[in-house]
Amino acid sequence: MSRRFLSIGECMVELSQAGDGLLRKGFAGDTFNTAWYARACLGPDWSVDYFTALGDDAMSDEMVAFIDKAGIGTSLIRRIRGKTPGLYMINLKNGERSFSYWRDSSAARSLAADPDSLREAVESADLVYFSGITLAILPQEDAATLLAEIRRAKAAGKLVVFDPNIRPRLWSSYDIMHATISEGARSSVLVMPSFDDEAAHFGDDSIEATVHRYRALGAVHIVVKNGAAGVRLNFAGEESFVPAEKVEQVVDTTSAGDSFNGAFLAHYLETADATAAARFAAGVAARVVSEHGALVAKEKLGLDGG
Ligand code: ADP
Repeated sequence: MSRRFLSIGECMVELSQAGDGLLRKGFAGDTFNTAWYARACLGPDWSVDYFTALGDDAMSDEMVAFIDKAGIGTSLIRRIRGKTPGLYMINLKNGERSFSYWRDSSAARSLAADPDSLREAVESADLVYFSGITLAILPQEDAATLLAEIRRAKAAGKLVVFDPNIRPRLWSSYDIMHATISEGARSSVLVMPSFDDEAAHFGDDSIEATVHRYRALGAVHIVVKNGAAGVRLNFAGEESFVPAEKVEQVVDTTSAGDSFNGAFLAHYLETADATAAARFAAGVAARVVSEHGALVAKEKLGLDGG
C-alpha cells in the first residue's frame, strides 16, 4: 500500500549567475527542497507530493514539468488563471552571496485560498510537512485556514512536521511572526528548527531553551539543527545528540537544513529510529554543503553507502 509524503509551500524560479552577464534558471524553495531530498531517500512504497499554487503561464508549466521529472507528484497543485510563480536571484559580489526576491504577488500566496482542495490534499497524506515560510507568505486568514487543517491532521494521527525557518522580512511584524510560528509548532507533532534562527529571533540562550519552548507549546518531538555543531534530538522526552559529519570544503550551504529534514524524515519513516535517521541525514547534508546549488542530484548523495 502506497503512503504519501505531502510538502506544502512555495517553489520559486531561481536565477543564478552563469558568467558574462548570463543567468541560469532553476527551481527551488525550502519545502520543495525538502520534498526533493525525501524523494531521493524514500523507497517506492512512498509517494512524495508537492502542494502549492501556480499560474497558467509557460513558467508555471515548466515548473510543474520539473517537479514531475524529479519524481514528485504534481496532481494536487492548483493552477490560478493570470498568476505567475515567485522568482529570486542569487547575486554574487566578491564571493559573497545575496538574494533578491520577486514573490509579493506569486501564485503560491493563494495556496490556502481554496479550503476544499487544501483539505483533500492533507487528508490524502500520511505525513504533512510545512514551514514558517509557508505560513509567512499567506494572508493572515489563509494562514489560519492552513493551521486549522494542520491541527485536524495532527488530531487524525498523521505525522505533521514543521520547520520554523524564520525569515523576518517575510512577516509584517515581529508579534505576528512570533505568534504564527508558535501556532505552527503547537499544531505539529515534530518541529525541526535551526538553532541560529531561534536564538536570533526568539532569544533562546541555549539549545535546551529551544527544545523546552517547543515542547511547552505541545510539539511531541523536536530536532534542533546547529550547523557544523550537530543536532540535538528530543523524541517524546528522550534526548540524544548526533554530530555533523566532517566536510573537507564547504562549497555552498544553501538547503543544508532542507536536505537534512528530507533525509531525516525519509529514514525515520522507514526505520522509526530518530537517532539513526539523524546520522543518515547528517551524511546527506554533508554532501549537499560540499556541492553547489540547493538541489543536489540523488547520484551524488552517497545513498548506497558509497
Ligand atoms: P540551516 O540550513 O537550516 O541553517 P544548519 O546550518 O543547521 O541548517 O545545517 C543543517 C545540517 O546540515 C546540519 O545539522 C549538519 O548536518 C549539516 N551541515 C551544515 N553545515 C555544515 C558544515 N559546515 N559541516 C558539516 N555539516 C554541516
